[in-house]
Amino acid sequence: MGRKHRRSAEREVRDVTHLANGGAQRVTRRGGEWFVRDIPAHRAEKAYRCPDCGGDIPPGRAHVVAWRADHLFGDSAAVQDRRHFHGHCWRLA
Ligand SMILES: [Zn+2]
Repeated sequence: MGRKHRRSAEREVRDVTHLANGGAQRVTRRGGEWFVRDIPAHRAEKAYRCPDCGGDIPPGRAHVVAWRADHLFGDSAAVQDRRHFHGHCWRLA
């Protein structure tokens, strides 16, 4: 029963990810599971603040967006909570 439940939960996660952010990659990082996606320069339309270094990510700068795969309130809450990181900051952490 445990195994069956787990499989359907994983399929659900994939569906949500596909809907909200096609092409996201699931990784283990910082003691948790994350979805991470590269934002290419031409898709970077807004300015963000990198939570790692506190520096700006100006519009037009390629970067990384990441959100928890194991968010307490589920995948849509996690996507709402997504953070934008400098690519190098994300990879260093
Ligand atoms: Zn940074």
